[in-house]
Amino acid sequence: MAMTAPELRWPRVAAHLHEALADAGTPLCAYVYDLEALRRHATTTARSLPPGFELFYAIKANSDLPILQTLAPLTHGFEISSGGELAWVREHFSEVPLIFSGPGKTDAELASALDLGVDALHVESQHELERLAWLARARGVIAPVLLRVNLAVDGLQATTLMMGGKPTPFGIAGDQLPGCLAWLRAHPQIRLRGFHFHLMSHQLDAAAHLRLLDAYLQQVSLWRAEYALNSLDQVNVGGGIGVNYREPEQQFDWAAFAEGLPALSAHRDGLTVRFECGRYITAFCGYYAMEVIDVKHAFGRPFAVASGGTHHFRTPYAQGHSHPFRVLPVETWRYPFPRPGVRDARISVVGQLCTPKDILAQDALVDSVRAGDLVVFPYAGAYAWHISHHDFLRHPHPRHWYLPAESTHAAG
Ligand SMILES: *Cc1c(COP(=O)(O)O)cnc(C)c1O
Repeated sequence: MAMTAPELRWPRVAAHLHEALADAGTPLCAYVYDLEALRRHATTTARSLPPGFELFYAIKANSDLPILQTLAPLTHGFEISSGGELAWVREHFSEVPLIFSGPGKTDAELASALDLGVDALHVESQHELERLAWLARARGVIAPVLLRVNLAVDGLQATTLMMGGKPTPFGIAGDQLPGCLAWLRAHPQIRLRGFHFHLMSHQLDAAAHLRLLDAYLQQVSLWRAEYALNSLDQVNVGGGIGVNYREPEQQFDWAAFAEGLPALSAHRDGLTVRFECGRYITAFCGYYAMEVIDVKHAFGRPFAVASGGTHHFRTPYAQGHSHPFRVLPVETWRYPFPRPGVRDARISVVGQLCTPKDILAQDALVDSVRAGDLVVFPYAGAYAWHISHHDFLRHPHPRHWYLPAESTHAAG
C-alpha cells in the first residue's frame, strides 16, 4: 500500500495548543480540528472520483457544525442515521441532499424524512418498507427508496467490523429480497431507486475494495435482469474506508482506488455509484490533546496520567488499539519541587477515570514525557468525541477548537 495519509499539520496544531496553554489555568484538555486540512482532504477525495460516482459524508462520524459547514460544498450530500441527525442537518442546511439510513427507524423518523425531504431512504426490512408505504400513502407522496441488502458477496474479506455477509440486524437478507421485490410491484408509494450495500468497515486495502464494489455491481446487474427492475438509477456502496491507526504510515490508497473506478463501468450499466464515507473523511483533521498531570511507575512500568480520558476519546478502546500520539514539550513548571518524567521509555497514557480500561496508548516508545507536557493524539476527527460517554465521572468536557479553513472557495 502506498503512503497516502493526508498530511498532518502538526506545526499549526502545536502552535495553537501552546498559545492556549498560556492562559489555560487548569490542565489543558481539548479537541482541535484543522478545518483547512479537512477542506484539502475532502476536496482531493471528492475530485478524484470519475463521472458517475458521488461522495456523501456519513455525519455520525462527526456531526459538529463547523465540520458539516466545511464539507457541505465539497461533497454531494450527507448520509444521516437518525431523526436527530435529520433535524440537525435540516436546521442548518435546507438544501443539502440527504440519504436516510440506519436500523430501527421509527414512524416519526420516517414521517419527518418524507416531510423534510430526503433524496433517498435506505430501507432495512420489509416491515419498515410497509410502514414507509403506509406513511407515504397518507401524505400522498412517493418515497424514494434503496433496499439495504445483507449478502455474502465474493470479495468480502473479513475486517474487524462486519455488518453483512453473516447474521446481523442490518439490511434485508438475500433470501428475503424476492419477497420484497414482489411486494414493491403492488405498492406504487415506493419508488425503488436502487440497492444499498454497507457490509463492512475498516477497509484498508484499495484493490480488495475495488473487487468488492465490482461484486456489488455484478449482483445488481443480475437482479435488474432477473426482476426486470427498470426504475433503478443508483447503487450505494456504503462507506467503510478504514483509517490505519496501528501503522499510520500505511493508509488506504485512495488515489489508486479512484484510478480503478472507471474500470467498474462494465457492470455499472449507467447507474450512479454513491459512497457514504464517514471515518475516512474526518478522522485525519482531528486531534485530542491532554496535559500530563502525573508520571508514575507501578511494578516497573511507567504511566502518564493525563487530563481527560476515554470518556472524551473512546476510539482506542472501541477499536482495541494503542493510539499513536506525540509529546509536545512544555517548558514551564510551576511547582517548587521536582518534575516527574521519564526518558527513552515505553509508557502507557491513561486518563482520569477510575477504571483500568481508561487507556489511550499502551507501552508506547517516547523520548521524553514529563508532567506538564502535552500528549496529542492525531486521527481523532471521526468516531472520537461523538462515540464517547461524556458524563461518566462528571469531569469537565474538553474544549473544542476549530482552526479555520484558509480558503472557503468550494471545489465543485
Ligand atoms: C456508519 C455508516 C457509514 C459510514 O461508515 P464509515 O466506516 O465511517 O465510512 C456508512 N453507511 C452506513 C449505513 C453506516 O451505518
